[in-house]
Amino acid sequence: MSALSLHDLYIARQRIQGLVRHTPLELSASLSRRLGVPVYLKLEALQTTGSFKLRGASNAIAALDPQQRSRGVVTASTGNHGRAVAHAAAQLGVKATVFLSHLVPDNKVQAIRDLGAQVCIVGQSQDDAQHAAQQLAEDHGAALIPPFDHRHVIAGQGTLGLEIIEQLPEVDQVLIPLSGGGLFAGVALALKSINPAISTHGISMQRGAAMHASLQAGCPVEVEELTTLADSLGGGIGLDNQHTLAMTRRLLDHLHLLPEASIANGMRHAYQQERLVLEGAGAVGIAALLDGLVAPRGPVVVVVSGRNVDSAQHQRVINGGDA
Ligand SMILES: *Cc1c(COP(=O)(O)O)cnc(C)c1O
Repeated sequence: MSALSLHDLYIARQRIQGLVRHTPLELSASLSRRLGVPVYLKLEALQTTGSFKLRGASNAIAALDPQQRSRGVVTASTGNHGRAVAHAAAQLGVKATVFLSHLVPDNKVQAIRDLGAQVCIVGQSQDDAQHAAQQLAEDHGAALIPPFDHRHVIAGQGTLGLEIIEQLPEVDQVLIPLSGGGLFAGVALALKSINPAISTHGISMQRGAAMHASLQAGCPVEVEELTTLADSLGGGIGLDNQHTLAMTRRLLDHLHLLPEASIANGMRHAYQQERLVLEGAGAVGIAALLDGLVAPRGPVVVVVSGRNVDSAQHQRVINGGDA
């Protein structure tokens, strides 16, 4: 199978046109002042469903042929990916089944049901739910839509990179939240293909950074999953990782790991200075700039990836807590 290229990203963009929003790129006065170079926020928190995940999910589902579509799609995510799959499937008239464990709180279950997906509650862990999703895919031919390690998902996320370079052709440094690496791989592929001089910064949290550990080890490794404010960055990269580890290794210039206090600081700054309500994962790029981790060089773009934060938790952070 050939490596993903810019061509795949343009095909993805055409395929998801009308299904996702073209999000704004806005100058941050406060961060520009602080760094002494123009700093822009790519506001993917304003994407439909509240995160960029809709791009990849829409591309993966829209790429299915009519026969595959008639058998439906399945996933096991409780978070932004599950939400995106449910929304994209509804838009395309495809039946979606989302498996959740008994541990998932009622409000999250209801949120996914409200998007029109069939919710199946099985087992006591995310692993149980994942297993059930795989079983449905095998038994009934439903298409499993993985959260990051999938060509169409990566290409869909890459459309965000195409937008950045069109909105700011002189962009010099880009900060990208990094977990499973679908977002990073897609966006960095777009940027480096068009201008290899752009420097890419992946940002993860210190607590459970599986991609960082895997890059260090030279192969996919598991890390203990710890609670973090950047919950959307939690989880492993898959021991049978096919795409995102190799792409991240090839396209990443710098990787920064943030402590919880910095992530909280990023969320507070976003709220107080930019009037943005962000989840922890969405604020890590801002946090890295506030921590002085990126030496200013030229115009900076920060990918602000999502806003789906529990309101009580957000309030605690704004009031000065970091957990
Ligand atoms: C999923 C997610 C990420 C990380 O994306 P990966 O493709 O797993 O690296 C970052 N921010 C938000 C808000 C997310 O939902």
